[in-house]
Amino acid sequence: MTDCIFCKIASGEIPSTKVYEDDLVLAFRDLEPQAPEHILIIPKVHRKSLLDLRAEDRNLAAHIYVDVIPAIAKDLGLAEKGFRVVTNTGAEGGQTVGHLHFHLLGGRSMAWPPG
Ligand code: AMP
Repeated sequence: MTDCIFCKIASGEIPSTKVYEDDLVLAFRDLEPQAPEHILIIPKVHRKSLLDLRAEDRNLAAHIYVDVIPAIAKDLGLAEKGFRVVTNTGAEGGQTVGHLHFHLLGGRSMAWPPG
């Protein structure tokens, strides 16, 4: 999508601090980290939110949860102490960028409930 900031990051048009990339997925550091480790994981294909995922995206969604998030968490040394994965969805969910993304947060204790 031409005016989507995360599509531009996925294509390399806007720079990012990349921590992981494959054919389907890119992961990069959040510009305004909310924890010592704050990574955004995005599908390269434009999907507005979780609600925009389609049946054809099953393998992509599984890949992100089964392969990508655990691999990044282990690489960053977060597996033992724990971490949090958040997908803000829509206005009340706190989503500010309209391209599906998964926040991986770690390196400190997390509070509950979230704000
Ligand atoms: P959300 O509010 O859940 O939509 O999350 C959007 C996230 O994208 C926020 O944590 C922002 O700090 C982050 N963000 C926005 N623009 C960039 C960028 N160019 N590079 C890295 N992170 C960004």
